[in-house]
Amino acid sequence: MIEIYDTTLRDGTQGEGVTFSVTDKLRVAERLDAFGVHYIEGGWPGSNPRDIEFFAQAKGRTFRHARLAAFGSTRRKDTPVDADDQVRLLLDASTPVVTIFGKTWMLHVLEVLQTTPEENLAMIADTVRYLKAHGKHVVYDAEHAFDGTKDNREYALATWKAAEAAGADCVTLCDTNGGSLPSEIAEIMGYARRHLTVRLGIHTHDDTGLGVANALAGVEAGATHVQGTINGYGERTGNCNITSVMPLLQFKLKLPNVPAASFPQLKELSQFVDETANIRPNPRLPWVGSGAFSHKGGAHVNAVQKVIRSYEHIDPALIGNTRHVLISDLAGRSNIVMKARELGFDISNDTPQLRDMLARIKALEHQGYEFESADGSLALLIRRSLTETFTPFVVEAYHVSVRRDGRDSNCEAVVKVRVGDDSEHRVAEGDGPVNALDAALRSALVRYYEQLDDVKLTDYKVRIIDSRTGTAARTRVIIQSSDGTAEWGTVGVDDNIVEASLQALVDSLEYALVRSGVTMPAQEVRR
Ligand SMILES: [Zn+2]
Repeated sequence: MIEIYDTTLRDGTQGEGVTFSVTDKLRVAERLDAFGVHYIEGGWPGSNPRDIEFFAQAKGRTFRHARLAAFGSTRRKDTPVDADDQVRLLLDASTPVVTIFGKTWMLHVLEVLQTTPEENLAMIADTVRYLKAHGKHVVYDAEHAFDGTKDNREYALATWKAAEAAGADCVTLCDTNGGSLPSEIAEIMGYARRHLTVRLGIHTHDDTGLGVANALAGVEAGATHVQGTINGYGERTGNCNITSVMPLLQFKLKLPNVPAASFPQLKELSQFVDETANIRPNPRLPWVGSGAFSHKGGAHVNAVQKVIRSYEHIDPALIGNTRHVLISDLAGRSNIVMKARELGFDISNDTPQLRDMLARIKALEHQGYEFESADGSLALLIRRSLTETFTPFVVEAYHVSVRRDGRDSNCEAVVKVRVGDDSEHRVAEGDGPVNALDAALRSALVRYYEQLDDVKLTDYKVRIIDSRTGTAARTRVIIQSSDGTAEWGTVGVDDNIVEASLQALVDSLEYALVRSGVTMPAQEVRR
């Protein structure tokens, strides 16, 4: 079995824009444990008080699968290990596992540490032996293992042997600078495998886009322990992305790692960590990205419709992802049919309304509409072409004003809506014109449709789509909404940003009503 060692909470937090509070760290650790990783590196107690606090709070928790690791370095040069504060903090963290890094590369020994090759070996051996004597499972991270070996093979091996002889449970070769090639990783890992009996690990970085490939090369050459981060968080371009490594091991190399039953939760885990770190999910992320199984080209979609595996390397459900059909200028009939089915409509390539639907979508796209992230608006369009439907409400008039008084600015919206034979007139204030409009519209509608109370706007994006006309450019607004269980996007386009926003808002609320199954004519709704 390949051990998965997660360092999202330590190496991952070195990434730009990644910060976790102590509570965030505990929540992420819980999720990683539930998913079934073998080790969770919680932080470096010697580097900051937040990590000390994390370990203090983690003491009271029980983890089912994972063992918690504290990270630190070997003792300082010319200092007895039991007098080294940083090593003492590692013991104070009270984790079952301690991971320490030490130097492999002579350049670092001589010029960065400014010590002798012999003292470096003693620093490694003393620290490992001391931690073992305190009952710890010890992972030794050999920093610059590959660059160091390229420089001096004998000395590199001597440092790893020092850790092995002192009782380390795992020696992890680190491509700290991220510049090695898979062939170099394989050669050097093989060299270590021939001369050591201890478990070998691999820790790579993604500086040249090879983080995951290098980790796999390490595994194929004998490593049985892989270190990395969820979604590849980490310094510079990031660490080895274990969100890719785990399914690669499982489905491509057929090497068991985390429990097989966990894989359908992989996408959810990836999203959870992004949400906790407040990072926008990357749609191009392999395996778990929202675009990983999206089909856009008409020919692809046509083929996928006939034989699913013709353009997919794996069934997306295995890792909790879903197939998406993107609607675009390239849209053919098959795209629309698949998209309509994805949205729950019963439709085939022979449905007569299909031709009109396609023409309408293309005409709207020509005006600047975009349906790829506006599935709510698309569903409404398909629904209107397929069936006679009632309109739950109509905005008859609106007025928005923005006023600035000293340092305070105020927005007010007045909306008149018709629901069946009724008419409602509401005023609301908001942080901005769209916010005020949304508030007024909702307060007018919620007495007819209580379920709109649960609908929230989660994102609002504005794009200028034709800059040639300067200020008269058309504006496309995309709104994402959620009712707590589902998310949908809606789109509006107009010369006027407020009008475009209103279109997207109206679609958002109408789609929420369609989703909730409102079918009776609105005029029958009694007060
Ligand atoms: Zn690292």
